[in-house]
Amino acid sequence: MLQGRMMDRPLLIIDILKHAADAFPAVEVVSRTVEGPVHRYGYADAYRRVARLAHALKQLGVEEGDRVATVAWNTYRHFELYYGVSGVGAVCHTINPRLFEDQLEYIVNHAGDRAVFVDADLVPLAEKMAARFGCVEHWVVMTDRERMPETTLPGALCYEELLADKPETYDWPELDERAAAAMCYTSGTTGNPKGALYHHRSTVLHALGLLAAGVVPLRQGSVVMPAVPMFHVQAWGQPYAAPIAGAKIVLPGRKLDGGSLRELMEAEGVTVTLGVPTVWLGLLAHLRETGGTLTTLKHLMSGGSAAPVSMVRAYEEEFGVAVSQGWGMTETSPVCACGADGPRMDAARGDARYALKLKQRRLFGVEFRLVGDDGEPAPLDGESQGELQCRGPWVVGGYYDDEAATADAMTGDGWFRTGDVASIDGEAMLQIADRTKDLIKSGGEWISSIDLENEAMSHPEVAEAAAIAMPHPRWQERPMLVVAPRKGASPTADDIRGHLEGRVARWWMPDDIVFVDELPHTATGKVSKLRLRERFGNRVPPAARTLPSETEPWTSITPTR
Ligand code: ADP
Repeated sequence: MLQGRMMDRPLLIIDILKHAADAFPAVEVVSRTVEGPVHRYGYADAYRRVARLAHALKQLGVEEGDRVATVAWNTYRHFELYYGVSGVGAVCHTINPRLFEDQLEYIVNHAGDRAVFVDADLVPLAEKMAARFGCVEHWVVMTDRERMPETTLPGALCYEELLADKPETYDWPELDERAAAAMCYTSGTTGNPKGALYHHRSTVLHALGLLAAGVVPLRQGSVVMPAVPMFHVQAWGQPYAAPIAGAKIVLPGRKLDGGSLRELMEAEGVTVTLGVPTVWLGLLAHLRETGGTLTTLKHLMSGGSAAPVSMVRAYEEEFGVAVSQGWGMTETSPVCACGADGPRMDAARGDARYALKLKQRRLFGVEFRLVGDDGEPAPLDGESQGELQCRGPWVVGGYYDDEAATADAMTGDGWFRTGDVASIDGEAMLQIADRTKDLIKSGGEWISSIDLENEAMSHPEVAEAAAIAMPHPRWQERPMLVVAPRKGASPTADDIRGHLEGRVARWWMPDDIVFVDELPHTATGKVSKLRLRERFGNRVPPAARTLPSETEPWTSITPTR
């Protein structure tokens, strides 16, 4: 081999912030703090505080490879921990405070966290859990001395006090770019949560990959607000991508309700924002109820679960905000595919445009393939479906200290099995049909719950809808639809059925439609199909519903779309 003559410099996370401090010293990091007031400083200030934090971590005895947990909302102190912890060579383990207590106990002990940094309002949760977190040696409350709560946390330290007397420069170690830097557990709807352990290289490449895709525009002058929690897959890489690009970053703290988000967006001139559909449905409801507008927001990225087309349409047509969808997983850092801009999108009009909006183009760096039920590759023709498998420099090669889960998730030839069923077209555009476990199998044919939900949510009186399977003696499973109506509306099952007629194949028509005030959501804000199944999964289809006759098997009816 003729070796290239280029320098071998590692890709390290701290160098992102150093770059921003040098190149964009005054570009702001703005936070709505847990204590209330808005805090703002420039990237240069952030970098100096991260140096202080690094000294503090060393004082606590944090060594390379140690896991340091955060239980915190989206604020500048959490941002500092992203950089300070990885900067000293330790691993920033972000924890979702909304997980069940048993999951929290498992995660902290499995990760072996030595220190926990906790937001002041989450101290009661930490106190409740402290006795079950045997490995934790240090508790640091992320506040200042005046606001330090009374606490039973053993030896609780105050974040600001810890930083106060430390130097503003730090001699950052030149780490191996493959050293672990961050970690996040999947919420694990079945079995134990599984840990994705990111390294410096994967994190930097993921941020660069996002910027290269350009679908979520980040550059100098952009103002980005991650409305996805920083405990959820590194806030989808925004705390890294924004400083590379020189974009201002607005961290919304704890409150992700429509009113709080809109107020902060308007006050800070947010141009681009990212979050899960539940958050965007909440903002949409708020805007409609209050007659509010979004005067600065240009782009909204929705990810984590399927964006309802009706929602995408509403943002674009009623509020002039371009919506793109991202696909990703905790295991994939997360973003692997995003948006669908370009000439094809520019040329598309009306329904064709919104159909295209359901798709997402693969990012440079990752590879996709589809594998059919027979274990053979499925064609990438935009129609054929198969299990989505992926590989790439920001996709897990296995889980942290969990060989059984790793063996389940990885194929023999080194691809990661996503558990999603999808199609991919000839332009590397992905369309997710379902999670394998959410597909509804009726009479041997699959029904996509995402498609069914999407059509239901295009009914003007429906706020949110979810389709789940109910067991059926003849067809194995039949779909049922759980609907949360919009505030003040009371659609009937017949209204919904009438609306679905002609929009979905006849054999997709839900056998049962039930109404609830609100759908249950998971700790990451997605509709919890698990809880819906627990509540409704054993319902017997109402006898009155007409079943197709023996001579008209559902599987032979051609879809009407
Ligand atoms: P969990 O929801 O289990 O906590 P993740 O956040 O890692 O974990 O969820 C990843 C899953 O979310 C994907 O496997 C996929 O099913 C779903 N998902 C993510 N983005 C999209 C999208 N744009 N459309 C449909 N489903 C999505």
